[in-house]
Amino acid sequence: MELRSIVQNVENERGLVMVPACVRKDFYTDGSMSTQTSKLSATRPNTRSHELQQRAERFFPGGVNSPVRAFRAVGGAPPFVERAEGAYVVDADGNRYIDYVGSWGPMILGHAFQPVVEAIERAARNSASFGASTESEAALAERIVACYPAIEKMRFVSSGTEATMSAIRLARAATGRKIIVKFEGCYHGHADGLLVKAGSGVATFGIPGSAGVPEEIAELTHPLPYNDLAELEAAFDAHPDGIAAVILEPVVGNAGCIAPAPGFLSGVRELTRREGALMIVDEVMTGFRVALGGACERFSIDPDLVTLGKIVGGGLPVGVFGGKQRYMDMLAPLGPVYQAGTLSGNPLAMAAGLATVDYLLEHKNEVYSLLEESAKAVAEGVADEASKAGVALTMNRVGAMWTWFFSDGPVRNYEEAAKSDTAAFGRFHRAMLNRGVWLPPSQFEAAFLGTAHGEAEVQATIDAAREAFRD
Ligand code: PMP
Repeated sequence: MELRSIVQNVENERGLVMVPACVRKDFYTDGSMSTQTSKLSATRPNTRSHELQQRAERFFPGGVNSPVRAFRAVGGAPPFVERAEGAYVVDADGNRYIDYVGSWGPMILGHAFQPVVEAIERAARNSASFGASTESEAALAERIVACYPAIEKMRFVSSGTEATMSAIRLARAATGRKIIVKFEGCYHGHADGLLVKAGSGVATFGIPGSAGVPEEIAELTHPLPYNDLAELEAAFDAHPDGIAAVILEPVVGNAGCIAPAPGFLSGVRELTRREGALMIVDEVMTGFRVALGGACERFSIDPDLVTLGKIVGGGLPVGVFGGKQRYMDMLAPLGPVYQAGTLSGNPLAMAAGLATVDYLLEHKNEVYSLLEESAKAVAEGVADEASKAGVALTMNRVGAMWTWFFSDGPVRNYEEAAKSDTAAFGRFHRAMLNRGVWLPPSQFEAAFLGTAHGEAEVQATIDAAREAFRD
């Protein structure tokens, strides 16, 4: 089935917005949600969510199993989710929201996308896990290699954290060096050595790193300002033959969305090659999002190692690290670098990933142009409303990820992102949530959309923002 043949072009006042095929209700388990438009209301019932939060707080620190879910940075009580479909999430009190979190990235085809649901169901009937190899691992790997020429061999793991942690171990083994360079505001998971000037929750809560990470480990991680090649060159000069790898988000999502400056990524490639360090491109967030082949394709980069997660697992726990065969073959059982996982390459996760990546591959041109159009329309539409309302706002966007920084801008690195008015962002977040729009609950996180977001959702979001800016 050709996606283009079932795509509808809808003119609105901002230009052409494509309504993707996936808005059709038969792509989702229960079509009811995606056929309604957003209901705007200034207050929403939250009794049930409140009760569930209190119950959760008995068992989980902050009531959550991952810190940013607690909504501490934006205030207000976090809704508890009951179900989601397409572009919509429904909470325990029956409130419906247009979702711009998308499970923090994986839901590029919308929630409960039928081919993914069916693939998981089929796989589950054969048992959830074996601890032995299955055909599905190589099938998904084949697709990844087709999309990522830089990946010759890979390993599946169960989270982005595991992927980056393992890539760093491999880089240290390959170079016999200890220092890792990362960039301020980039988040690469919560392994000890990567929680130095990190983004995501670490930036959200304004902490420099984490207690419990020994100085001796943190000292081996050198954080530098993003988009600053001179600083990187100086670091290489200061540590000749000392730097094992430079790890980066090719588009930063975890300090809010920050695009790489022209020449930055190719400059990092050139310097790492010249200095004998590995370049690790962390595409956990950007992989299969900013293009089918992620940032590597979009910006023509050829790194030594790549990490993936989120979309590649279709919403189930999957991470990947991969790259040049000469490095990957250093892993056990072929080589001396140990890395393992009981549930790595889990058959349910492989099935969800395969259904997602296959759909993206088969509909590559249509899907990525739709994502670009919809993301542009909503990101610019809301920014226009801010400007009409006299609210200082800087919008950064790369493909289907963006951030509205409450700042005069520009935002080119973490220091500039941190100048944003986080209290104003919190007020905006609460006002949008009350109007049925769920944004990431932190100024320092990127918003995402997927193919299920159509013209109705884009327009409802802009309408909600117009009211929110006047609150
Ligand atoms: N790298 C990047 C770029 C990420 O955005 C994230 C998570 N948001 C991670 C690594 C860690 O992934 P996980 O949460 O699956 O451990």
